[in-house]
Amino acid sequence: MVTKGDNKSLIPRIDWQNLVFERITSGDLLNWIEEYGSDILFQFDSKGYAPIHWVSKFGLHDITTTLLENGVSASTPADVVCGAQPIHIASMEGHTEVIDVLLSYGADVNARDKYKCTPLMRAVMTGSHHVRNSRTILHLLCRGADPYLFDGNKFSVLHYATLKEDLEAVNLFLNIGVNPNLRSQIGVKSLHIAYYTGNYQIVKRLVIASSVSPYAIYSLHQRQFRANKSIKSLLADIYNYGASFFMVIWFLSILVFMYPAYVYDLVPNSMEYVKLHVVLLASSGLDWVLWYATWATRSYVQPNSLEYKKVLEAKLVSASKLKEEIKKISESKSKERIKLPGIPYFSVKLCHTCKIIQEIGTKHCSYCNRCIANHDHHCIYLNNCISSYNRILFIALTFSLAVTGSSLIIILYISLQKTNYKVNWRQFGLFLLALNLCFNGGLMLVHSIIKLFKNLVI
Ligand SMILES: [Zn+2]
Ligand SMILES: [Zn+2]
Repeated sequence: MVTKGDNKSLIPRIDWQNLVFERITSGDLLNWIEEYGSDILFQFDSKGYAPIHWVSKFGLHDITTTLLENGVSASTPADVVCGAQPIHIASMEGHTEVIDVLLSYGADVNARDKYKCTPLMRAVMTGSHHVRNSRTILHLLCRGADPYLFDGNKFSVLHYATLKEDLEAVNLFLNIGVNPNLRSQIGVKSLHIAYYTGNYQIVKRLVIASSVSPYAIYSLHQRQFRANKSIKSLLADIYNYGASFFMVIWFLSILVFMYPAYVYDLVPNSMEYVKLHVVLLASSGLDWVLWYATWATRSYVQPNSLEYKKVLEAKLVSASKLKEEIKKISESKSKERIKLPGIPYFSVKLCHTCKIIQEIGTKHCSYCNRCIANHDHHCIYLNNCISSYNRILFIALTFSLAVTGSSLIIILYISLQKTNYKVNWRQFGLFLLALNLCFNGGLMLVHSIIKLFKNLVI
């Protein structure tokens, strides 16, 4: 085998990314090796990466196997500042198959890069408020990743999950016993980071987990309010009372604007069309009834932490078996491939926030912060999730809203005819409101019916 130093002097650094890709997509990696010898697989490109790093980045696990079979080390560090190994790169990109291939050739699941970061830390770091990577995190844990390690700055995985505002990961780490009171080198706790990012849910979760006194919870809450995310916290508080910002706007526009404007501007000009007024008032009344019924029907999945704990533990148990086998292989120094143990309950999805097993169709709603069975969507005007429990009510509501909107438009048209189309601001406002009722009502009606049929088919 040619060492890295020799290669540097023999062949100038090449831009592998394109070359590796070209060879892989044309399917002649093996011919390529025959042509240039397998030394080509140990070369580093101008960016400091070898082919093994690129295939790990792009999740090409078959090619990863070929490279490893040809003697490439599964723990080759890249010639870059952080010195990432292929397993770090695969963890950042969420390629669990590549992670497994690398492990089966003896890569260390707790390998450290130059910043002493483990693959698990790297996986947590790539998560964000919008992109959840709990699947990769759980996979690494099942493969023996140690969640209690620190990086070079004494930051734990919990610090990183908090920084990334990944509530799912924060809950997972707390559930498996990561200490929330750990301090980094400069004395920073996860809770400090949570204040900095201003994530209300994570602050709450960490406060409870750190068993801070009730007074401290109150003062932390006040501090959170004063942080520059006050609008966010205010909204969070309104949500806690079962209302939402849009709901308030909605109520005000109907009660304070629509009804008075209707009585004042439209009724005097359209007295003779009694049937139309009856339709409008009846459907408007029905709107409120259906609105209340849809709002009051909550379809939260009840927490079942015992079942959750059982599955989570079963998933994590495979780690210890694997660790022993990898240890044996690395002690014997053979380049043999290890057969990785299967992960029990592999396809069972868990929600680490609600501590439940997620059935098909169950989704965690970030507004309600609860898991919803047969989730359709979260309605901001109802501040409730639409699911199979209240879908029929919701369809009736949208239909009824569309009737209200269209009868309002007809009455508006008749009264405008009487006044020779002189429009005042209230009538214009009524027109916009009615249009919104028809449009939104109609749109959601179509959406819900499509969703209903999809669910029936599945
Ligand atoms: Zn949930
Ligand atoms: Zn919701």
